[in-house]
Amino acid sequence: MGKNIDFDVVIVGAGNAALCAALSASEAGASVIILEKAPKHFQGGNCPYTGAGFRFTHNGINDLKALLPENTDTGDFQMAPYTEQDFLDHFIEATHGDTDQELADVVISKSRETINWMHSNGVRWELPININLENAPSVIPNQVGLSAHESGPGLVRMLTKAVESKSITILYETKMVSIDKGDLGQIKSIKIQDRDGINIIHCKAVVLACGGFEANPEMRIKYLGTKWETAKVRGSKYNTGDGHRVALDIGAATNGQWTGCHGTPIDLDAPTTGDLALTDAMPRRSYNLGIMVNLDGNRFTDEGIGFAEQTFVQIGSDILSQKRNMAFQIFDQRAVNHLEDRYGGSNPVSAQSIEQLADLLGINPTVLKSTVDKFNLEAEDADYLSRTLDGRSTLSLYPAKSNWAIKIDKPPFIAYSVTGSITYTYGGLKIDENARVLDMEDNPITGLYAAGEIVGGIFYHNSLRAAGLMHGSVFGKLAGQHAGRLENQ
Ligand SMILES: Cc1cc2nc3c(=O)[nH]c(=O)nc-3n(C[C@H](O)[C@H](O)[C@H](O)COP(=O)(O)OP(=O)(O)OC[C@H]3O[C@@H](n4cnc5c(N)ncnc54)[C@H](O)[C@@H]3O)c2cc1C
Repeated sequence: MGKNIDFDVVIVGAGNAALCAALSASEAGASVIILEKAPKHFQGGNCPYTGAGFRFTHNGINDLKALLPENTDTGDFQMAPYTEQDFLDHFIEATHGDTDQELADVVISKSRETINWMHSNGVRWELPININLENAPSVIPNQVGLSAHESGPGLVRMLTKAVESKSITILYETKMVSIDKGDLGQIKSIKIQDRDGINIIHCKAVVLACGGFEANPEMRIKYLGTKWETAKVRGSKYNTGDGHRVALDIGAATNGQWTGCHGTPIDLDAPTTGDLALTDAMPRRSYNLGIMVNLDGNRFTDEGIGFAEQTFVQIGSDILSQKRNMAFQIFDQRAVNHLEDRYGGSNPVSAQSIEQLADLLGINPTVLKSTVDKFNLEAEDADYLSRTLDGRSTLSLYPAKSNWAIKIDKPPFIAYSVTGSITYTYGGLKIDENARVLDMEDNPITGLYAAGEIVGGIFYHNSLRAAGLMHGSVFGKLAGQHAGRLENQ
């Protein structure tokens, strides 16, 4: 690439939020270029790792038919209308009320029109698969929108085809290094690096859509805490917080929970960073049907505090707090047939007695036996009803098990080794309702926009399934629209 190039809008990243921003900036009449740090086969950051479910408002299955291929058999498919109030209630419930309601309102009110707009740009939608009350019981309904055709990889392919059809270039293996402001404090250029070295692109606007800092151990330690140093990264190794760093360097304000992130208990032998062939098989979320112990043989958390859908983020973090950031999930024969199918991919340790199991796991047998005995003394002789919060609890134990406190006494006993993983970070840049990045005085930094995972304030404590991609598309479209019009303002 030659030196000193000019474009109206530079988009940083080539995932869902970035590609939406590129499309809408181009629609607004701007010349656009996209920078992608990764090689083409790793394009799109975390996007390809998702099932590409989108949560949006609609009036039920008949309303969605116009978005589905003509031959879709919606026969017995049940989907109730999803109102703005439902969406808001679920945002509030998932984030314990801490979501930035102004941002949430934008996401909710613009969700459906953004889905229609993506459809008009060639994104094909399908009925959601594989997320329902049968395999992921939850107090918040999961099956509330549509999925992109061929899941995350399909979404990236369709959006890439759309931007290419508008003659927008994606520069692969090209990363943003820094951003420069002009005399008036406006964005004036971006420094990039590819195999040939450093170049400058002069521009009027930059849209940061380059994900979170989950794959940067140094930032994980700094913002999330030391226990996150060794966390397995479920998604892209390219999301290293470059956008956070560069924006803070030029005076951007932060928003949201920088100490928080999404994660899950995961197989101890999971790859260190995302592997498309394996990522979905690695979570270990049936801990509510047994107990978890650390290397000392002690329980350390309430395994039955709720359905896994609402608790796995916290439980993953609890596991990372243990010695060597790991734990064992222990089940007996009452539970084994209820475990998630994903457990079939592990080689558990099995034994006829708890003491033998402890020996095989390298735990003191006396301590583990005592832990199980104390638990069994309080637990009930019953069958697991895994899709009901059964209220069977061991309230006098510390920590208690609030549901599914059922005796572990039917050998052989089975143990799975687990650790904690990180999916993405919550803390990010402060934006307004038009995706403009704000400075510390809450004034927009002229020409700087952000969308997707890099935006802070939307998720706290937990995420809302299928809302991550949705907010990336909503703010990506808005960022592109406004950045694309900037030269005309
Ligand atoms: C395993 C997994 C499952 C998930 N499931 C869901 C789900 O079901 N529903 C949902 O809504 N969300 C889900 N998510 C979250 C979802 O992936 C993110 O919300 C979404 O992908 C964020 O999109 P984005 O466009 O902001 O960032 P990304 O899609 O992560 O894209 C960031 C882009 O920026 C690039 N980049 C980074 N630094 C630079 C730089 N310096 N210069 C140039 N480019 C750079 C990256 O290479 C990448 O292309 C899941 C995430 C994971 C990991």
